Amino acid sequence: MCHHRSVTAFDLLIRGGTVVDGTGAPGTPADVGVVGDRIKAIGDLSAADEKGVAVVIDATDRIVCPGFIDVHGHSDASILVDPAIASHLHQGFTTQLSGNCGDTLAPLAEPGREMVELSLAGTGVEPTWSTFGGYLGVVERLRLGPNHAFLVGHGTIRGAVLGPTSSPANEADLKAMIRHLKEALDAGAIGLSSGLIYPPGIYAGADELERLATVTARRGGLYASHIRNESDDLSAALDEAVATIRAAGPGARLQVSHLKAGSRSTWGRGREAVERLEQARADGLDVAADQYPYTAAATTLEIILPPAMMAMSIEAIVQSLGDPDVRDRIKREIAVGAPGWENAGADPGWAALRIADSRTHRDWAGHTLAELADEFDRDPADVAFGLLIDDRLDTSIVMDCMSEPDVDAIVAAPWIAVCTDAGGRRPGHAHLGSGMPHPRAYGTAPRVLGRYVRDRGILSLESAIAKLTSVPADRIGLRGRGVLRQKAFADLVVFDPATVGDLATELDPHRYPAGIEHVIVNGVQAIADGIETDQRPGRLLRRER
Ligand SMILES: [Zn+2]
Repeated sequence: MCHHRSVTAFDLLIRGGTVVDGTGAPGTPADVGVVGDRIKAIGDLSAADEKGVAVVIDATDRIVCPGFIDVHGHSDASILVDPAIASHLHQGFTTQLSGNCGDTLAPLAEPGREMVELSLAGTGVEPTWSTFGGYLGVVERLRLGPNHAFLVGHGTIRGAVLGPTSSPANEADLKAMIRHLKEALDAGAIGLSSGLIYPPGIYAGADELERLATVTARRGGLYASHIRNESDDLSAALDEAVATIRAAGPGARLQVSHLKAGSRSTWGRGREAVERLEQARADGLDVAADQYPYTAAATTLEIILPPAMMAMSIEAIVQSLGDPDVRDRIKREIAVGAPGWENAGADPGWAALRIADSRTHRDWAGHTLAELADEFDRDPADVAFGLLIDDRLDTSIVMDCMSEPDVDAIVAAPWIAVCTDAGGRRPGHAHLGSGMPHPRAYGTAPRVLGRYVRDRGILSLESAIAKLTSVPADRIGLRGRGVLRQKAFADLVVFDPATVGDLATELDPHRYPAGIEHVIVNGVQAIADGIETDQRPGRLLRRER
């Protein structure tokens, strides 16, 4: 028997920092020793021999905490272009859950091919998969920055069976959708996501969602929902999401995606929304939520169209938008509104809709539709229709639609996770560095730690870190991640609490944050002194329960 390795021989050692473990417990001074991909020791390791330790990090005046976990991301396509997910790594995210809002890249079958190809627009990626397991296999072979897990999208499943139609699903359709869902869950999807303002998810009735949520619950999966209305009908939409998992029965788990009071007429109701979900939690339902810490949202420009308009192929929508009679009819519908429809052209209105990215009008990025309409002396709706035609619906926008007090009320809730609602970006990259995307892609986690903790005192540092670590880890069902303790995976962040903060803004969004110095994924340094290393230690994480 010969043990050359003494108990104090670490592969990586972080000395002299304050450990905030992610549980919400107060920070304590401690060193952290890592062996392989696991945390081996936490405490006073000053006696440890540094000889032979590959990496020693001086964390004096720094916070050492679990790597951040993004429970609501959209890197499904960008991960195929830049598996490092640079914009997430630089924020300290060591795990991301993508596949949100009902929109995924699998299952891929002919009726839904056009929708999947729209999600891949600009990436140059040709899909080689058809099943969800096939897609996960493609991701697993990439050299990942952060760990990555995926939900399967209800909209994509519906599209694979029914295409873009607004028809209700009949029994045979439902059975086919359930087969796709089971395949995805068995392949490792964390659960099912829905996007009930987007086609084709918007056409799903309660029965369809309950049947699919039931299958998800029986396999222990999460049901994450971009609810049907974040505007005038916010309360009813929250109730619908809760009713869906109530109907799904034992084991059903709901994640309300990016909770917000998302139109001017809804301002002042943020706290009420939190309380509505707290009531469901008090009733014993497994309900939680997530939020990105900004007063602007981001989405696609096509949401300005009335729902009935979107139940067609892209070509058919583009054709009809060129018809002056159709345009007039849409303008009248926007002026009048319709029950349950988030009518963004009216509220928050054209002055609050800013172009984030347009393939055909790159220089329009950063301008609102009201500004463009003024410049060209046209109706803002016509400018929007023209853009949708030229971009074949692939136009993204940032929408200034929330109030600061509502955002604060949601930030303050300790059980609501912090999320980015973004896909990976990279400054200077031909595709991922283009346009003016929502700054949340680069700034979310540091913004909470800087603006909401240090500068405004909306929540404690320990609570903010819990909302970035253990709270989302519990929703995803990750074992051994999200809390800094012995034997846990060594996913770690070292940051400077005095300087941490977001630098990305709406008009200058491609900027990494300040103060995030070291990011360690599975025991390996992916960011060292604020710079990306050439290590890509992330893993594909499949559902464990
Ligand atoms: Zn969404």
